[in-house]
Amino acid sequence: MEIVKSMGIILKEINYSESSKILTVFTKEYGKIGILSKGCRNIRSKLRSVSTRLIYGFFHFYYQPNGLSTLICVDVENTFSHILSSIDDIAYANYLLELTDKIVEGDAESDLFDLLISTLEKIEEGITPKMLSNIFSLKVLPLLGCGLVLDECVSCGSSENIVTIDIEQGGFICKKCYANQMIVDPKLIQLLRLSMEVDVKKIKKLSLDTTLVDEFSKFLDDYYEKYTGISLKSKTFLKNIMKLGVSNEKI
Ligand SMILES: [Zn+2]
Repeated sequence: MEIVKSMGIILKEINYSESSKILTVFTKEYGKIGILSKGCRNIRSKLRSVSTRLIYGFFHFYYQPNGLSTLICVDVENTFSHILSSIDDIAYANYLLELTDKIVEGDAESDLFDLLISTLEKIEEGITPKMLSNIFSLKVLPLLGCGLVLDECVSCGSSENIVTIDIEQGGFICKKCYANQMIVDPKLIQLLRLSMEVDVKKIKKLSLDTTLVDEFSKFLDDYYEKYTGISLKSKTFLKNIMKLGVSNEKI
């Protein structure tokens, strides 16, 4: 087996045999791969602290393209300690990891990799995880085969006089093509467009109206339910903690 190295993040971990784990790692160069972390559950193992979900860094491993690779070591870039200290942030991070796990296959998806890392880094910096998760969920829609046209009218291609969004047609609708679709808040239309265009890496702060962010989340929930066929355990958990009021969410 060949020794390779790649930036990566652990999406999932499961215990394997007496003392090992199998990690699902999303790597920048090799896509999503299974890596065996041998003996990492032993108290003295040097792999112990780097074999958990959300660890992000430079992974060195014996690469097995069609099977299980074997971990050598990880130069950790970020442990996301701030995220790990907040139940809200953990819930959102789990959602992002689980959604990524559903989207990514064996192939390298370096844009998605960069988007995931930037989103997590911004949550780590203290920017509202709810809005960041919305932006992430919107930006990955094309990878799920149901992207939205948010720079012009989906029907005629005009970028003028956008009045609403037509979920059935998958994009904005202009005044001329409007045919009794439900009218969406113009602020939400603008927010959708900005969210699609924004470079997450460059976000410094997001001070937005809570109601608007909630509308955005609701819009995405409905759209995901209708078109992606994805249901995530982490999403249900997220909704439950919000309902219970455990969360002290920042907007
Ligand atoms: Zn039109």
